[in-house]
Amino acid sequence: MAQNRVGVIGFPVEHSLSPIMHNAAFEALQMRDWHYDAMSIPPDILRLGLREPKNHGYIGINVTVPHKEAIMEFVRPDDRARAIGAVNTVDFRSNIGTNTDADGLIGDLHAHQIPLSGERVLVLGAGGASRAAVYGLSREGARIAIVNRTKSRAYGLVEQLKISAGVEGLDVLTLDEAADWGMSLIVNCTSVGLHPHINQTPWIHGLPFPDGVTVYDMVYRPANTALMQQCLAHGGRAIGGLGMLTRQGAIAFELWTGVEPPLDVMYGALQTALETSE
Ligand code: NAP
Repeated sequence: MAQNRVGVIGFPVEHSLSPIMHNAAFEALQMRDWHYDAMSIPPDILRLGLREPKNHGYIGINVTVPHKEAIMEFVRPDDRARAIGAVNTVDFRSNIGTNTDADGLIGDLHAHQIPLSGERVLVLGAGGASRAAVYGLSREGARIAIVNRTKSRAYGLVEQLKISAGVEGLDVLTLDEAADWGMSLIVNCTSVGLHPHINQTPWIHGLPFPDGVTVYDMVYRPANTALMQQCLAHGGRAIGGLGMLTRQGAIAFELWTGVEPPLDVMYGALQTALETSE
């Protein structure tokens, strides 16, 4: 059995692609004493459930739905996790919880050479992923507006990030208003368009789509979402969320192991897993 164990907790967690991504990296680097697995922990026993990996000597864990916010009570959230209001990675050696989603997104936008400083960026959604995106984008100097189906939730996000991270100057718009806002980048942080609802888009059909913008869609299943297709049809550039998924995992990998992660191997493993599941 591997001596160094890491994993992901969630409920349900069987769908998680993280074991495939991390174990592919361990294999490529011949880190044979490392292994990553998935643990299903129901929300009502999270505190007790956390004892399992701790008692079994796990180095750390990733945290997915629905535990990202609740786990903050049981670990020591760092500044970033506090600012975003969610933890997706824990190091049990220090019991520090952090959040790698913002850096995963910003890292992938940089890798695609998308300008952010001074740019108008429209963020669709106001859930956990959106909070991470707005936090990361604000630190890059972007001017940000948020559109969410439930407008009150968008105002809640604005208020929370103001208090937790001192983020100022966020706008909340309707989709109608956003169409004329003049953004260069749209980041989809909603779950709209996710498999199996592949024909759905957060940009309502019939509302004119802005020409020549870049869309970054956090949704990565399917690889080419309906929103991305709308963007491409209007002369824009469209990027799916697989790179962000890879990078948020790679940051956790390096935190636990101290080893530089093989990004291409991790990305390739995810891509193969998605292709074979479709
Ligand atoms: P969440 O907290 O549940 O938020 C979901 C968001 O989607 C909310 O803003 C919600 O609006 C909106 N939404 C859901 N159904 C909608 C509909 N039919 N029409 C309009 N808006 C709708 O989820 P999350 O954790 O932020 O994750 C959001 C998405 O990002 C998921 O698909 C997740 O897989 C993806 N994600 C990807 C990565 C990556 O690495 N690529 C990382 C994190 C998350 P309301 O507030 O009105 O309900």
